[in-house]
Amino acid sequence: MIGRFAPSPTGRMHLGNVYSALLSWLSAKSQGGGWLLRIEDLDPQRSRRVYAEQLEDDLRWLGLTWDAGGIEDPQYVQSNRSGIYEAHLATLQAKGLTYPCYCSRADILATQAPHESDGRVVYQGTCRPDGTETKAEWLKARALACPHAPAIRIQVPDCDICFTDLHYGPQQFNLAKECGDFILRRADGAWAYQLAVVVDDLLMGVSEVVRGRDLLSSVPQQLFLYETLGYKAPDFCHLPLLCNESGQRLCKRDQSLHMGTLREHFSAEEIIGKLACFAHLTDRQEAISAQELISLFDWHKVPTADLRISPDAIFNN
Ligand code: GLU
Ligand code: ZN
Repeated sequence: MIGRFAPSPTGRMHLGNVYSALLSWLSAKSQGGGWLLRIEDLDPQRSRRVYAEQLEDDLRWLGLTWDAGGIEDPQYVQSNRSGIYEAHLATLQAKGLTYPCYCSRADILATQAPHESDGRVVYQGTCRPDGTETKAEWLKARALACPHAPAIRIQVPDCDICFTDLHYGPQQFNLAKECGDFILRRADGAWAYQLAVVVDDLLMGVSEVVRGRDLLSSVPQQLFLYETLGYKAPDFCHLPLLCNESGQRLCKRDQSLHMGTLREHFSAEEIIGKLACFAHLTDRQEAISAQELISLFDWHKVPTADLRISPDAIFNN
């Protein structure tokens, strides 16, 4: 059994990131499994090595140690893995499933995991060839008029993808209607999250993916890629989100709940203790180490409803 944590080094970790890391670590450790740290630095504009270094320092300080990966091991840093993504893209291209997309800016966000609250739109297939001469001519003209290289999209069939999330239960999504043809490589050459995450999880032997439930709706795209590439998919186990007082998923802008501030006020055991209580693993916010929590961990105790937390509840408790 192998679990993983796959953060994007685009800022200091906040309490929500730590919650995901902790539960993924506990799930792996309670099954006697390994836990990998993969650095998802696909977006050259937003990723910084110092954030990855800070992230590792925060994880070590919390006692969430990894068995493989991290920045010392270039194999686990996505920006070093272009050749591997290239080879898998070639496999998909050889199956005739991809096409160039000339739409401008449409692909900008592709390197980031599409968190539900970001409200992304389903691509309507503007550049998808439909086998007619007219469309082929139109696409040729578009290609000539396009000032930059095209992005590459994969064509999805109009079918339902069904799977069982280990925490949220049975799920069903229509690939064409709810996901649409999605980007594998951006126009500027950056690799898209969906392709990289699948290729990495499969090559790294990940058997269980634990992450926030705002990525639950990325599972159909990922299952489609596993199936098309001919690999078995890992188990997916999504988590309720930690939200701020207005009900929005905590993000890197929520300054008061990032690790810099938290480490000034609390010990590692105090932070783990608060998160353990939020996850219903304990009934009071009492200091406890990650190691001690392993024996108390049980997915059945973890709630499915999102959690609203205010800085007050954190700092005055
Ligand atoms: N790197 C992604 C993020 O930080 C997480 C991807 C995943 O866990 O699949 O949003
Ligand atoms: Zn297009």
